[in-house]
Amino acid sequence: MTSRHDIFAELGLSPLWLDRSRLERQQTVAAPAQDLESNAKGKPVESDIGVPDDNSPQGGGAKAPGVSVVQPVEKMDWPQLRQAVAECTACVLYKKRRQAVLGVGDEQADWLIIGEGPGAEEDARGEPFVGQAGKLLDNMLSAIGLARGSNVYIANVVKCRPPGNRTPSLEEAEACAAYLDRQIDLIQPRLIVALGKVAARRMLGRDATLASLRKTLHDYRGIPLVVTYHPAYLLRNLPDKAKAWEDLCFAVDSMSGLAGAQDAQQ
Ligand code: SF4
Repeated sequence: MTSRHDIFAELGLSPLWLDRSRLERQQTVAAPAQDLESNAKGKPVESDIGVPDDNSPQGGGAKAPGVSVVQPVEKMDWPQLRQAVAECTACVLYKKRRQAVLGVGDEQADWLIIGEGPGAEEDARGEPFVGQAGKLLDNMLSAIGLARGSNVYIANVVKCRPPGNRTPSLEEAEACAAYLDRQIDLIQPRLIVALGKVAARRMLGRDATLASLRKTLHDYRGIPLVVTYHPAYLLRNLPDKAKAWEDLCFAVDSMSGLAGAQDAQQ
């Protein structure tokens, strides 16, 4: 028999989330134990968290008590997205996290910076790029006249810390992809800067060397994107800081070009 999850997946309404407290209440009545097991294995689950009732002014219909309502990620607003990420169990990374780290900054920024995933310090503090690499990133932003939180939003490919700071797997990046895409849709940045190979691979969909991707204006779903080194890599490879500076200058020039093109159209 086709399950609800299969139907929702078929309709493109995935990943989906489940209010865990409700699930647990339902389980005590009827649900088989293996349902929770399957959620922990990263299968789509469903949620009624923060989702308007079907008859609410936002659209929808009255929600019967105990009946969860599906909300696709691509329709979530910021509070719903925050809650969904905080409670997500779609990949194994949820098991070792202290908290999920959605991102930080200006939610209407022109600049979107995308890194790899939270480290131990980020996991503890709930903010991306707060350790040594974060300080370097702040300095890099400052060098081009930007500051964290002001016309800049910082996010990661995966929202939960990979244990031991390992590289997130392709499957983990894929499981988390809808969240990052929704962030991009909500922010609508004018330029994306992908930091490091993992972010470049996620955004460009190919496994090329970072060197081969630099100094090119790429495109992610219609948004110009540039690639440079991850600050954590730069901390270990100081000579490459000069290349990162070149990349940032390229990004600034690209942004200026975009602004010029927009002015010319008006
Ligand atoms: S990394 Fe992303 S997909 Fe995996 S559990 Fe965390 S929020 Fe969910």
